[in-house]
Amino acid sequence: MKYDVIIGLEVHAQLQTKTKIFCGCATDFTPDAPNIRTCPVCLGLPGALPVLNRRAFEMAVKAALGLRCQIAHFTKWDRKQYFYPDLPKGYQISQYDLPFSHSGLMEIPADPEVAGAEGLTRKVRIIRAHLEDDAGKNIHDESGRGSESQVDLNRAGTPLVEIVTEPDLRSPKEARMLLEEIRLLLLYFGVSDCNMQEGNLRCDANINLHLHHDSGITTKTPIVEIKNLNSFRFLEQACEYEVSRQLKTYGHLEEIADRTKRTFGYDPQRGVTIEQRSKEEAADYRYFPDPDLVPVIVTADQIQLWQADLPERPQDRRQRYQTELGLSPYDAGVIIEQGRAFADFFEQIVAHGAEPKQASNWITQEIQRILNERKCSIGEFPVSAELVGTILKKVSDKQLTLKAAREALDALVSYSEENTVSQETLEKVIQERGLAIVQNDELLLNIIQQVIQKNPKPVADYLGGKQAAAGSLLGQVMREARGADPQLVKSLVTQALDALKSGNS
Ligand SMILES: [Zn+2]
Repeated sequence: MKYDVIIGLEVHAQLQTKTKIFCGCATDFTPDAPNIRTCPVCLGLPGALPVLNRRAFEMAVKAALGLRCQIAHFTKWDRKQYFYPDLPKGYQISQYDLPFSHSGLMEIPADPEVAGAEGLTRKVRIIRAHLEDDAGKNIHDESGRGSESQVDLNRAGTPLVEIVTEPDLRSPKEARMLLEEIRLLLLYFGVSDCNMQEGNLRCDANINLHLHHDSGITTKTPIVEIKNLNSFRFLEQACEYEVSRQLKTYGHLEEIADRTKRTFGYDPQRGVTIEQRSKEEAADYRYFPDPDLVPVIVTADQIQLWQADLPERPQDRRQRYQTELGLSPYDAGVIIEQGRAFADFFEQIVAHGAEPKQASNWITQEIQRILNERKCSIGEFPVSAELVGTILKKVSDKQLTLKAAREALDALVSYSEENTVSQETLEKVIQERGLAIVQNDELLLNIIQQVIQKNPKPVADYLGGKQAAAGSLLGQVMREARGADPQLVKSLVTQALDALKSGNS
């Protein structure tokens, strides 16, 4: 039996503002000091009035523009009522019918495992992105001794942007790839740190199957919402498990009577999804406009200003690296994945004269190796992109061999531990270590003549027909002319010896 996997995501990202969305409390992560980042507003005390954090709104707009969403000229705030210990107000401030943005689009490469999708692009429509405040966190006694549960409200009131997609994804892998791409976008745009361990990026997946029975009948399985997935791996695994569970439960049924949407959680230890509670209908939340907050009016001019100020999307950069710089899709992807600072560093190396392909090899191999050894990020790399670019330009100008260039970089890195490293340092290192390719052919010919004169035995052997004898002469010349192009030396030595040969005959 054939079937289609249908997945849509709801992604929650915490915006990296300094203060909360409707009050002045700090948003820093303070798990060891519960309830210190609170005030009457985020505690929901009677009479406290929320005021919108403009910075949070602007960051959310930036994210939405990155997702190619339309920005609404009028947007308002709604109360979503539910009762839970980590929600002191008794409602969440969210956006119901008039979100600040809608109708966006993200593109990812389609999963080649999906029938007919190989080589295609998966276009994922974004229904909306809206803003809301986060809840606090319940802390349960996990020792099993049954102590009371506690509530930490430090996170209550933190700005969240929620991104809702159409169910356009066709496999668990595509779901993972989309979340990865959204994370990169938010990181490159500087609107969220997307720290998944701290819960700053999490997602719910809505998933069901369209079963195409041999009889020609197609049945749709009930939609399952898997809540609160906080890693890429868990998202993919939970969806994979849910595909197999739905196939097993419904695969043989040509008619499914109860198609109520259900809510599941994912248990990563056991690798299974577990039913939690049946999904509340929207009406259950009794949404109504928040009377304490004024709607936000955004002019077309303002949107244009924001639009003009937008950074380049990681997706567009990846494309540009291929079309303008000639990198392979793989190489471009590896650089983009490492984050904006890394990609910027790469571009600066190229701007200072390195061949793009060479620069790509270097940043993903040599520089990455040094970063791993020193356990530091690209921002802390001790040699500037300008100097790395200069080293690589010397390689393409045939002033340094690749091996010598590596030695120069390593020397600069160790030199940097006690000194600042400059262009002069590079020249000094190249000179002191004799790394430069001997460019002057005359100089090289002199060295060759000297070596020939000093080594009558191998020369005689060679002239006597022992080709291998040239090897030791070659080695000596290379030692004398450090950094010389080995191909050039080889041809010059052979020429000199062959000249002797014809002179002798
Ligand atoms: Zn507060």
